[in-house]
Amino acid sequence: MEIEFRDLKKQYSKYEKDINEAIFGVLKSGEFIGGDPVNELEHNLSSFVEKKHCITCGNGTDALSLVLRAWNIGIGDAVFVPNFTFFATAEVVSLLGATPIFVDVDEDTYNISSTALEKKINEVLFERKLKPKVIITVDLFGLLADYDNITKIATKYSLKILEDAAQAFGATYNGKKACSFGDAATTSFFPAKPLGCYGDGGAIFTDDDQLKSIIESLKVHGKGRDKYDNVRIGVNSRLDTIQAAILNVKFQAFVNHEIDDINAVYEKYISSLNGYVQIPKIPKGFKSTFAQFSIKLKSKRDRDSLKNYLSKFNIPSQVYYKKPLHHQEAFASLKNSDLDYPVSISLSKRILSLPMHPYLNTDEILFISSKIIEFIKKLENIEGE
Ligand SMILES: *Cc1c(COP(=O)(O)O)cnc(C)c1O
Repeated sequence: MEIEFRDLKKQYSKYEKDINEAIFGVLKSGEFIGGDPVNELEHNLSSFVEKKHCITCGNGTDALSLVLRAWNIGIGDAVFVPNFTFFATAEVVSLLGATPIFVDVDEDTYNISSTALEKKINEVLFERKLKPKVIITVDLFGLLADYDNITKIATKYSLKILEDAAQAFGATYNGKKACSFGDAATTSFFPAKPLGCYGDGGAIFTDDDQLKSIIESLKVHGKGRDKYDNVRIGVNSRLDTIQAAILNVKFQAFVNHEIDDINAVYEKYISSLNGYVQIPKIPKGFKSTFAQFSIKLKSKRDRDSLKNYLSKFNIPSQVYYKKPLHHQEAFASLKNSDLDYPVSISLSKRILSLPMHPYLNTDEILFISSKIIEFIKKLENIEGE
């Protein structure tokens, strides 16, 4: 049994013929930037998400910074981000000269805590050094953030919401889809994300016509009437035609069965692991797309030994994330205190992500679970002595 952490080879072998045809179609068309496959993808994704506009771009990081740039976020602005996420969420804020304000996360969902968020907003207002502007919510590991409460807070303090759904494409809350929350939303098509291509790619979603036209200009060198009429300083950030063609095939598989299949994997995991380790809680009304399936152990020592134990049986596992953002050297100058981040610090020590993808079969799930249970029972025996 060769267990993959995220199996892209099984998916390719199932859709090999369609994917190859899509790629060859682009090669034969001679059109490698823009064109029908990109338009088709933007159309399909915006109607799936139920947003007026989908604007594809080079990757999920560019997607975030294009929105922030279009909103004129820069020096003197405060942007609130969860302290437990991939680096890029906060990196883009600093890159634009604004200040990321890290917010602790919720113990059960690992997403931004609305209580901690309101506290941080008030701290920034009290200090009067920065202007609160945007909340970047992250739908971590495939689970949507707590938009009911976050939206109330954003309205109360007149802040914009940017939904970073890089890990949650296809997820829902009461039927409403990821990338449809907030004033704008972004996603990533990095290969290991829920909907991935075979390279880098990203997209932005919004109902705002003006935002859409600014982003379309920014992503092509600040174009005006055309690429050679430049009305602002922009970047070059486009989704390749070949990647769009691949995504058009993979999107069908994603909608037709992959979202259901990965949820079935989740159900099997929890029915075998429940009671042995802390499993991710999916609150009522939410449906995750499980970019990661992350369990929680009692201590760092238990987590590290379980990771080591699993590796002896060739079961891959990963730690997302080893450090909360405020511990990253790149953010050291912000001088944030550990006292503000008890949950993210504890999570970074105790969390472990297990193999998770729609093509994981029952034998593999049972094998992984049995090894975890074996490990926990050994721990209990040692502790019981
Ligand atoms: C992957 C990821 C990004 C960045 O996406 P890229 O396509 O790799 O640039 C941003 N935010 C989160 C939460 C991510 O997981």
